[in-house]
Amino acid sequence: MPESTQTPALVIFTDLDATLLDEDTYSYKDAAPALAACKKAGVPIVLVSSKTFAEMAPLHRELSLASPLVAENGGGIFFPAELAHIPKNCVKQDSSWFRLDLGAGYQRLVKALDEIQKETGIVLEGFSSMDETRVGLLTGLSLAQARLAKLRYWDEPFVAPALSKKDRAMLEKAAAARDLNITGGGRFLHLHGGSDKGIAVALLKNWYCGQNPHMRFAGLGDSDNDISMLEQADFPIFVGRKSKLPESLANLVVSDIPGPKGWNRQVLRLLEKCGFGR
Ligand SMILES: [Mg+2]
Repeated sequence: MPESTQTPALVIFTDLDATLLDEDTYSYKDAAPALAACKKAGVPIVLVSSKTFAEMAPLHRELSLASPLVAENGGGIFFPAELAHIPKNCVKQDSSWFRLDLGAGYQRLVKALDEIQKETGIVLEGFSSMDETRVGLLTGLSLAQARLAKLRYWDEPFVAPALSKKDRAMLEKAAAARDLNITGGGRFLHLHGGSDKGIAVALLKNWYCGQNPHMRFAGLGDSDNDISMLEQADFPIFVGRKSKLPESLANLVVSDIPGPKGWNRQVLRLLEKCGFGR
């Protein structure tokens, strides 16, 4: 029997910040051995982030990936134009990419955040009201990177200094009244609607299974906006700090080491467990 029919097919969905990328340096250097092993094994890596398409596309190119990517917390999926089987409901983004819209549109989110601030009296500072310098200051991104981070379609990150649990509950209630959600990422809270990472990942699982019904899926993340993605995974892996540990996943593997170093070790273990690289 040829080896390819014995090797289980695997797709890896991964968060970026504090998962594949170092929380402070934004480097994937510590995960380089496992990234190379995935490439060698032909295991697609799907980047799933709160970052924008404009921020993610250069990394997708740098890693020589051919897979779709999920931007802005599942707000949309981008498919490289050279892929076969691009879903029919995609729109053309540019000559290299097609875009599938899933989340509520950006103008609606910006307007809603302003209304929520007035309604609750809680001071909120959204990305749309920040210039590149302010975004750079809060994120550690360069001005050029901050500009890319502001090119948003479906997710409004915001900061709310000294937010109490009660305030957070008020914000969530005001968002829910508008059919929108608030989730916490690493540095920011995010306002979005009709989408999360799990919905986008479920859609991509169907897309991959349409091509190979035996496909299995791993998910790696570090914070609560990753949980819906981890819930979709056959192999959910948590590489965050233990204080943020989700409790809803029975088969969750928790890495001893956070960030890209943990990513590296866990993905190498997974590849071995799934029969790759023997
Ligand atoms: Mg993260």
